Amino acid sequence: MTTTPNPLTRGFVSLVGAGPGDPDLLTVKGYRVIQAADVVVYDRLVSTEILALAKPNAELIYVGKKLDFHCVPQDQINQILVDKALAGKKVIRLKGGDSFIFGRGGEELETLAENNINFEVVPGITAAAGATAYAGIPLTHRDHAQSVQFITGHVQKDGREIEWSALAQSNNTLVFYMGLKQSGHITTQLIEHGLDANTPCAIIENGTRREQRVFQGELHTLPQMANEAQSPALIVVGSVTQLHNKLKWFE
Ligand code: SAH
Repeated sequence: MTTTPNPLTRGFVSLVGAGPGDPDLLTVKGYRVIQAADVVVYDRLVSTEILALAKPNAELIYVGKKLDFHCVPQDQINQILVDKALAGKKVIRLKGGDSFIFGRGGEELETLAENNINFEVVPGITAAAGATAYAGIPLTHRDHAQSVQFITGHVQKDGREIEWSALAQSNNTLVFYMGLKQSGHITTQLIEHGLDANTPCAIIENGTRREQRVFQGELHTLPQMANEAQSPALIVVGSVTQLHNKLKWFE
């Protein structure tokens, strides 16, 4: 499928989700787009195997972000995309996981839209889907969870608070991105809002990569588990995490 460019718009940017780590989790469409790109603007969590798919003469621009440390400020990233697209380059903006899930993909596209630049979005496997699949933890299961929520552990910084009472439900799976540093707060809030302190939970570190590690415990032990884990990691809260023991397949 191809998109028909609007004659009033200029340049072209593909916003591509590279998946959570295992390079084989890139989509076929993402693979094709990377091979055709003149400029690849990429983040820290994109694996080297995926970058190696770019043409030998493609320009690779690293704008990686680390927690609490932005290598290139967001407005500068937006400007790079605009400038390269307006210069007539086929630009790919490559992000870890899926660009629309805690990836600021929406913000970058808004800038492109304001500058009348054409774009497309190629979805990626978000960490919550990839890491739990490789950990043998089904996010929903008829006997355990009828809903799942993805939450950022970063909200406090923005001065917003999560609606904890909506999350603290026993038949709901919670997946926290960027939550390691906030694990104490997450634990206290969930227990205060009625979730059992013995609710099973897991931390998946480096999900889908060879170095993947899965920590298991209960809600009250989450801060201790988080102390041992390294970023990138997801916190998963809910009884589905117990299934890891039975369904683990990736070592
Ligand atoms: N857009 C990305 C998320 C970016 S936020 C996506 O859709 O996956 C970065 C956070 O994602 C990390 O702090 C971590 O919580 C999570 N993450 C990304 N890759 C991961 C991996 N391989 N294993 C575990 N968590 C991961």
